[in-house]
Amino acid sequence: MSKRAYNFNAGPAAVPLEVLGRAQAEFVDYQDNGMSIMEMSHRGAVYEGVHNEAQSRLLNLLGNPEGYKVLFLQGGASTQFAMLPMNLLAEGQTAGYVKTGSWANKAISEAKLVGDTFIAASSEDNQYKSVPNLANLQLPENAAYLHLTSNETIEGTQFQEFPDTGNVPLIADMSSDILSRQLDVKNFGMIYAGAQKNLGPSGVTVVIAREELIQNSPKHIPTVFRYDTHTKNNSLYNTPPSFSIYMVNQVLKWIEEQGSLAGIEAKNREKAQLLYNAIDNSGGFFRGFADTDSRSNMNVTFRMASEDLEKQFVKASEQEGFVGLKGHRSVGGLRASIYNAVPYEHIKALVDFMGEFQRKNG
Ligand code: PMP
Repeated sequence: MSKRAYNFNAGPAAVPLEVLGRAQAEFVDYQDNGMSIMEMSHRGAVYEGVHNEAQSRLLNLLGNPEGYKVLFLQGGASTQFAMLPMNLLAEGQTAGYVKTGSWANKAISEAKLVGDTFIAASSEDNQYKSVPNLANLQLPENAAYLHLTSNETIEGTQFQEFPDTGNVPLIADMSSDILSRQLDVKNFGMIYAGAQKNLGPSGVTVVIAREELIQNSPKHIPTVFRYDTHTKNNSLYNTPPSFSIYMVNQVLKWIEEQGSLAGIEAKNREKAQLLYNAIDNSGGFFRGFADTDSRSNMNVTFRMASEDLEKQFVKASEQEGFVGLKGHRSVGGLRASIYNAVPYEHIKALVDFMGEFQRKNG
């Protein structure tokens, strides 16, 4: 096999090599069925076994929280930006949003098309370099839910603590940090995430929700956009993205094999620290974008003295086998996405490359 790239893509992103190898081994003939999993009926026992296994593995990794269900949906996390208010924001209610950056803003824009919203907290004044303190949030009586983005993929900020919202369901977009750390699901009414960062390939969006929130959608919503349709049909109302779900199941198995979410969290901290230390110890040659206490352990965003130098850095990195270090087009700069599947050694290689680049150009 040719050498694996140092893949720092933001999503779709690195998938564990072991997972790719296992998928390859059973790609053409899945467990002696004479066909690939992607060629099977989604109504057959073999596919349904995989589907149900992926759901139970996910719940199991999260400590089997009582009363929660897993849905596998399509249309990306972007579709959840709309489905959430369509299903959970009723007339006479208002939905609270925490405004932390690019993805939170997309969620807010969609909710505004559906109903009344309010900004519960914001870091806009700080150019989204931090996450706001949510310790003393005041939520109105008629709040339908409070939505936050646990990790802002583009700005590179992450919440380390979550608020207690009492009876108001807390909803989180965890697209870019799901299963990267320990999580008390019971604090949340609903969590959703596109799979293409920490869970596998694109094509499936995972929803983990308290059952009562997803079993009675308002009657006027078209069938496919109703949570209750998918809950009642075990996410098999229409043809699911079966191959993506199979891959998610493989990634979940790999996560189980890593030991525990606590262990994964420790590893991710160590990986991020290695990179942040390199940035902080560069004497200003590299500068972190996010405020120190809001830094993400998944997306490390940084800048250099000029855009020209950043361009040179990206070009030189590509020649050395590094992929995906250019920041998102909306904010520029540089970004290394270091999800669960990115090995420590690849970050070490990046840190070495950064040091060398500085010696040559600093
Ligand atoms: N939310 C976050 C935090 C994201 O990082 C992304 C994708 N980068 C999205 C939502 C949108 O996801 P999708 O492309 O699956 O719609």
